[in-house]
Amino acid sequence: MNDIAHAGVTSRFKIRVEQKTYFGADGTSVLAIRDFELDIPRYSMTVLMGPSGCGKTTLLRIVAGLDDNFTGEVGFADETRIGLMFQEPRLLPWRTVRQNLELVAAPGFGPEDLQQLAQSVGIAEMLPRYPQELSLGMARRVALARAFATRPDLLLLDEPFVSLDERTADRLRRLLLDVWSARPTTALLVTHNAREAFLLADQLVLLAPRPTRVVAVETIPVPHGKRDSAAIEAIHADLLERYPGNFISA
Ligand code: ADP
Ligand code: MG
Repeated sequence: MNDIAHAGVTSRFKIRVEQKTYFGADGTSVLAIRDFELDIPRYSMTVLMGPSGCGKTTLLRIVAGLDDNFTGEVGFADETRIGLMFQEPRLLPWRTVRQNLELVAAPGFGPEDLQQLAQSVGIAEMLPRYPQELSLGMARRVALARAFATRPDLLLLDEPFVSLDERTADRLRRLLLDVWSARPTTALLVTHNAREAFLLADQLVLLAPRPTRVVAVETIPVPHGKRDSAAIEAIHADLLERYPGNFISA
């Protein structure tokens, strides 16, 4: 029985990483994470915000089960379906966009679901194309659709909109919100972009520089639909005042 997927609203994903160290062949070591603890409420959009190099990707790889070389505990049931979206779209180049989605689709995710999802992320026209025919922005849309096609219990997003121009990035952030709102999903997104964090988070987690740990967890009370530039500025100003120092720059 998968008590995470089927439990009541109080169930959460728990992450505890006591320590994660990288050891180099030359005997050097890098302590990437220390005493990291976090609960992710179901159906929340939890955003981890921290500076480049603090350990965000390291943490997501641990949560995804791609790295078990750490001390601590990631408390998910075995059957938990994890959806991933990395910085690079990582589409299969010899498959069409449609096939890229079909290959990972959850059981019961049929052609109509695929069409509807493709339409909602704006890639319906691209379904017969191959990934190399797509711009980076389009490829990111496909990667986003692919992550949702798995109908994940937990969706992990690693700086999914990095290195796009700000307008494209903003469009995709809002698109993520639309798709996520229509398909209740527990999401964990990491970013070093403060604006992105303030736009997307309902639970905002501030991370320390390396070795990273949780500095603070904030609930952002402004509904997603009301986060225009002024609202984001206000969230920013409020956090700057309460966390002076390095944690909130950008
Ligand atoms: P972020 O995603 O926040 O930018 P990372 O998790 O990628 O940070 O990296 C955290 C720290 O660990 C950095 O100092 C990075 O250089 C180091 N690091 C990451 N991967 C490895 C690795 N495979 N071997 C050694 N050091 C690594
Ligand atoms: Mg990273």
